[in-house]
Amino acid sequence: MSRRTITVLGATGSVGASTLDLLMRAPDAWAVEALTANCDVAALAQSARAVNAKLAVVADEGCYAALKDALAGTGIEAAAGKAALCDAAKRPAEIVVAAIVGAAGLQPTLAAVERGATLAIANKETLVCAGDLVRAAAVRSGAVLLPVDSEHNAIFQVFDHAHPERVTRIIVTASGGPFRRSTADEMRHVTPAQACTHPVWSMGAKISVDSATLMNKGLELIEAAHLFPVTPDQLEVIVHPQSVVHSFVEYIDGSMLAQLGSPDMRTPIAYCLAYPERMATPSARLDLAAVARLEFEAPDYDRFPALGLATDALRAGGSAPCILNAANEVAVAAFLAGEIGFLDIAAIVADTLSRVGAGGVASLDEVVAIDSAARRAALAAVSRRGVSAAKPRQAAAAARRQA
Ligand code: NAD
Ligand code: MG
Repeated sequence: MSRRTITVLGATGSVGASTLDLLMRAPDAWAVEALTANCDVAALAQSARAVNAKLAVVADEGCYAALKDALAGTGIEAAAGKAALCDAAKRPAEIVVAAIVGAAGLQPTLAAVERGATLAIANKETLVCAGDLVRAAAVRSGAVLLPVDSEHNAIFQVFDHAHPERVTRIIVTASGGPFRRSTADEMRHVTPAQACTHPVWSMGAKISVDSATLMNKGLELIEAAHLFPVTPDQLEVIVHPQSVVHSFVEYIDGSMLAQLGSPDMRTPIAYCLAYPERMATPSARLDLAAVARLEFEAPDYDRFPALGLATDALRAGGSAPCILNAANEVAVAAFLAGEIGFLDIAAIVADTLSRVGAGGVASLDEVVAIDSAARRAALAAVSRRGVSAAKPRQAAAAARRQA
């Protein structure tokens, strides 16, 4: 059997590492074209050697010399810069795993879609800020979009793609994050470390904070609206702390279909890699007797305002999701840097949405311009709030000194 060719964008992250783990378990089945990272040279070079990639790319040009050194004598090509990321995505791999975090993944993901690759999409921010463009490009090129995000992967597995009119609702499950039971006052004082300690999943810092604010679930509703032919009214969220049921699809006869599994990203990633076949994974099998109980509760929009902001942006459409996403990326980065408090994240997103007027988006240039305008407005909001958040900033500086 000939090897399948694959490129992993964002290879050094949490999803990237889970993908490489699967590839390394079946080295005869895969030929790795390219791996990319932002600037984590050591991890990228080590992975590129381990899977014998043809090319390794760092987004940050300042990291090029270190990458070249780290790959000396291996025959693996090194490249750097944003254009090099897109060039990597354009190289002829059958499957591209889009696992960069944030809107930084937009151009390389779009480059892979435009050449008609099969995309395993984890990078939800790309769909949130430019889902219409990505879908249109996929229709033109024949690219296949397969969702890696566990909820969307679950929906994809149980959705009747031939008869979408038979679907009445999609119910996206949410773990509820680490502050499911916390009061607003308790959340005001949480630290980045507490926000990044997810009760069920082990993930990158940005998505961990998004899970704690429930912005992640809001972004996922917008993602679902792009991946499945349903209206915003047909999309709902249910909190399910065990994270065993990865989402539901309800049909006109009242049946609900769901996909279940242990919370291990290797299962949805493997589904995408093997599609339309299936492949074995080392993910833990569900022990239903040990799980014992599956709980469900309605989300609390008062304590988690980010979810309402995202739902409103989904309904408004146009550039609103792009503004929401950009503001959230800036606010989460500021929170992780200790510049603002946890509750400031949603406040900054709301502030940015009220200042940057939403409209239509017809081109990639427009998306980039709206994203930049929203980032500027969000940064200004961070500096306004940062003054009142001096305490967490001092605490973070102290923590950095200790580390
Ligand atoms: P992560 O932070 O662990 O890794 C991000 C990757 O992107 C790294 O390889 C990093 O080097 C690269 N990167 C960061 N900034 C970049 C930039 N400016 N330019 C180019 N590359 C850059 O993130 P993650 O948790 O693996 O998440 C990746 C994506 O998958 C996110 O969009 C996230 O929402 C989504 N996702 C993650 C999980 C999960 O379990 N981690 C689950 C579902 C969806
Ligand atoms: Mg998810």
